[in-house]
Parts: sequence; structure tokens; C-alpha cells
Amino acid sequence: LIELRGVNKHYGTLHVLRDIHLTVGRGEVVVVIGPSGSGKSTLCRAVNRLEAVESGDILIDGQPLPSEGKALARLRAEVGMVFQSFNLFAHKTVLANVSLAQTKVRRRRREEADRRSRELLDRVGLAAHADKFPAQLSGGQQQRVAIARALAMDPKALLFDEPTSALDPEMINEVLEVMRQLAEEGMTMVVVTHEMGFARSAAHRVVFMADGRIVEDRTPEDFFTAPRSERAKDFLSKIL
Ligand code: ATP
Ligand code: MG
Repeated sequence: LIELRGVNKHYGTLHVLRDIHLTVGRGEVVVVIGPSGSGKSTLCRAVNRLEAVESGDILIDGQPLPSEGKALARLRAEVGMVFQSFNLFAHKTVLANVSLAQTKVRRRRREEADRRSRELLDRVGLAAHADKFPAQLSGGQQQRVAIARALAMDPKALLFDEPTSALDPEMINEVLEVMRQLAEEGMTMVVVTHEMGFARSAAHRVVFMADGRIVEDRTPEDFFTAPRSERAKDFLSKIL
């Protein structure tokens, strides 16, 4: 579903993505881990065309990424992204936050969008909060609204860039639980996270990045029990 072939990117003289090859199949859950600055966010942003790359191909369903216009908006609906900061509209209700892009990008009528929004809010455990404003919710609840908003686009795949790292510890699990459920339902997901419990229990593959390279791409079982590279061993010894 998602395929990167020989992707490279620099920021100035810094080579942030070095010859990245990565394939994510339909229904697959890939967790991306690695030290700060290794290029994890850049990788996600490249797949969503929030960053252009210099060389290599990025394909979604076999099609190259569009670079602009309606096709780009459609790409970002089909490959949704959930960020560390939830990026909700502060002056709109929870319901309106989830409905807005449905009416604009998916061209749904307002009533239809709102109906779908309520379904999704129910699914992430927030049915009772539809008419509140984001500031009236906890961080974990806001992140679940952001997930509902991404789901409302009927995405083919979702990218998560450290979705729980801005949250207080007691709210992390409620977000991971929603993600775990999506994974079980067969959503294709790329998840950058430091939550190794999630990686172990929900990922089909763990991709370990260092210095802009994919150093390991293996099952969680193999990766956590027997990391091959020194970089991965070193990284795991610091976080586990
Ligand atoms: P973290 O775990 O801290 O989120 P990361 O693995 O997500 O790190 P990236 O955000 O992808 O890393 O950044 C990779 C490298 O590129 C870093 O050295 C970062 O400083 C640099 N970088 C990121 N964005 C830019 C930018 N817009 N301009 C210049 N350099 C950037
Ligand atoms: Mg990052």
C-alpha cells in the first residue's frame, strides 16, 4: 500500500533520509523507533507530502505522490496523519472539528458528516463530549478527537508521529487502546512512538532508524529479543 524506494532528503548539508526502502502492506502495522534526530518525523512527513524528497519514489497503491492541488488534498485524506500536538481548531466544537474536512474534502452534506462524526466519537469513547470545545477536554481526549477526525476521511492508512508523547502518563493508555483497536480492525498504520509495549503487542514490524537510515526492519519479537546492530542495542539499553 505504501512503498518507498531509494528515498533521499537533505536539510542543507544534513542527510536526513538516506536511501530509504520501506514497504507497508495493507493492514500492516509498522512501528518506527530510533534516537532523536534520526529522521522518523521526516519520513512520515515525506509520505504525506508535507516534505518533498530529492530522489527516490514514494508510491501509494502503486501511484506516485501528487505534488499539489486537489490530488494532494485527497492524498492527505487517504493517508491521514496524527501528530504529537493535536492541532484541533480551538474555536470549534469537537463535533465540528471532526465534521469540517468531511464537508470540505469529502463533500459530504453537513448532516451526513455530523452523523459519521458522532459514530466515530462514540468509537473513540467520546460520544458525550461532542458539543464541548477542545480546551474543555483532557490531552488524551483531544488526541482521540484528532484520531476520529482522521478516521472520518475513510483513510487507507494512518501515520502517527509520537501521538502520546505530549500526554500525561495516565492518558497515554486510552490513546494507545484506540490505536490498538484500529490495528486489530486491520487499519494500515505507521506509528512513530517510544511506547515499546505498543510496539511489542500491536506491531507486525519494527523499523529502527539511526542517522537517516533504516538500520533494522524486523518483527518485534526478533528486534526486541535479538537486535543485530550496535545502534539498536545501544538504543534499547537506554530506553528499556
Ligand atoms: P525526534 O525523535 O526528536 O522527533 P526525528 O527522528 O523525528 O527526531 P526528524 O524530526 O525527522 O527526527 O529530524 C531529522 C533531522 O533533521 C534532525 O537533525 C533535525 O534537526 C533536522 N530537521 C528536521 N526538520 C528540519 C527543518 N525543517 N530544517 C532543517 N533541519 C530539520
Ligand atoms: Mg520526530
